[in-house]
Amino acid sequence: MNLNIKDTFTTENPADSNVENTRRQVEGAVFSYVKPKKTSAPKLLHVSAEMAEELNISSKETKSDFFKDIVTGNRIYPNTTPYAMCYGGHQFGNWAGQLGDGRAINLFEIEHNNKNWKVQLKGAGETPYSRTADGLAVLRSSIREYLCAEAMFHLNVPTTRSLSLSLSGDAVLRDVLYNGNPAYEKGAIVARVAPSFLRFGNFEIFTARKDIKNLKSLVNYTIKHHFAHLGKPSKETYINFFKEVSERTLKMIIDWQRVGFVHGVMNTDNMSILGLTIDYGPYGWLEGFDFGWTPNTTDRQHKRYRYGNQPNIGLWNLYQLANTLYPIIEEVAPLNNILEQYKIDFEKQSFTMMKEKLGLIISDEDDVKLIQELEENLQLVETDMTIFFRLLSNFSSKETAFNLIKNAFYNLENISDDVKNRWNNWFKKYDDRLKIERISSEERKEKMDLVNPKYVLRNYMSQMAIDEAEKGNYSLIDELFKLLKKPYSEQPENEKWFAKRPEWARNKVGCSMLSCSS
Ligand code: AMP
Ligand code: MG
Repeated sequence: MNLNIKDTFTTENPADSNVENTRRQVEGAVFSYVKPKKTSAPKLLHVSAEMAEELNISSKETKSDFFKDIVTGNRIYPNTTPYAMCYGGHQFGNWAGQLGDGRAINLFEIEHNNKNWKVQLKGAGETPYSRTADGLAVLRSSIREYLCAEAMFHLNVPTTRSLSLSLSGDAVLRDVLYNGNPAYEKGAIVARVAPSFLRFGNFEIFTARKDIKNLKSLVNYTIKHHFAHLGKPSKETYINFFKEVSERTLKMIIDWQRVGFVHGVMNTDNMSILGLTIDYGPYGWLEGFDFGWTPNTTDRQHKRYRYGNQPNIGLWNLYQLANTLYPIIEEVAPLNNILEQYKIDFEKQSFTMMKEKLGLIISDEDDVKLIQELEENLQLVETDMTIFFRLLSNFSSKETAFNLIKNAFYNLENISDDVKNRWNNWFKKYDDRLKIERISSEERKEKMDLVNPKYVLRNYMSQMAIDEAEKGNYSLIDELFKLLKKPYSEQPENEKWFAKRPEWARNKVGCSMLSCSS
């Protein structure tokens, strides 16, 4: 395996001079050198052949012991220097100080096809940033991250990617429900890949420490490598940098809203500076459409990170980033304008996105109302978001509409006449509205099916793959991986996955409720 290594992060940013792997506050540095921990019986469970190819690693090479050793941290690729990054963050609205890569270790950068990729292991042992934890990851959360990142990629949502999923062979102690019942679980390691793993928090930590010199140098590095089109560093470039981060963040969140993805922990340390979905923890997929839903049990009380609040939290996080960048911009107005623009753009883009989901192309003054009424209807009784929108592209007449979407209701028998009437009223309006469109219903269906996925990684599906994997059967991981490569396509052989959450999963841990334990 001959990789085209091109490390820029470690060669262009200041390193922690302390090379001991002890937990500490790291100041004046962007990262610390640290080696992954050797594991007792590494076993490769799955590889994303597509991602490997992006890195110029052939299928044959991914089957070698050498590859397995690299992606489980048991061997260090020649002439590379693994490291963990220093970052801070606002968690649940409060400044939490230094956090950092507590269980992520970056291996190296690979350049291929004019793209530069950072390869990182999650769960490969402790780092100076591990605080009170062990730096390890368990199989269940690793399966969830591995599958979901690739699923999001194929849904056209900006995201970090997955390269491989492995067992470490070591046992890891976790208290899943945080109720004083820790148990041993299988340890696992995900190798994940992105052009950059920098987060808002990597910048915040410097401003919090009044280390403006290092803030500026990290911003300059980021612009040089990831926003080169913005030009040479200057105040104006920094403003444009913030503007682009704001735009990318919004675009990512609009995509989340479109597919019904709830991140679950939108802390500023989980916000990528490139606007990628990052850190798949207690995330979830909407089943019943519900703006108030959050999968994260830690967030159950305040529901800060609920589905309907994700756009606001994106803005809140951007305020933190604006404060962070202020010392190198020293002007409030341009930052404020960008934040104001986020709100305007959100309204616009969210409206456009909903119109697309409905197959509406031309403008009509009643569209806002039509969408509002739809969102109200979707929340009258538990109505599956994915199934509803997918079925909607088959709409042909208001008379048969209710029948068409029947399958989206979780409790069809108990739907009142009032609810039925409201749906029938809405479909009457939708029908009238479609009549003023100028495309055929076939064309509309084609367009709608490109934005309304048929298959998403429902929480129970991951859980089934996890339950099987715990028993040593990994085939469902591969089945779901393949299914989710074509989320917008009809896959008749996979129709069983175009289904509502089964009742057994309603209140099962890991299905509708997830803790941060991972
Ligand atoms: P997360 O909630 O996974 O985004 O993590 C928040 C912070 O806790 C980050 O600094 C993580 O690196 C760190 N962290 C989470 N789990 C562990 C672990 N098992 N060992 C060490 N650090 C961890
Ligand atoms: Mg995180």
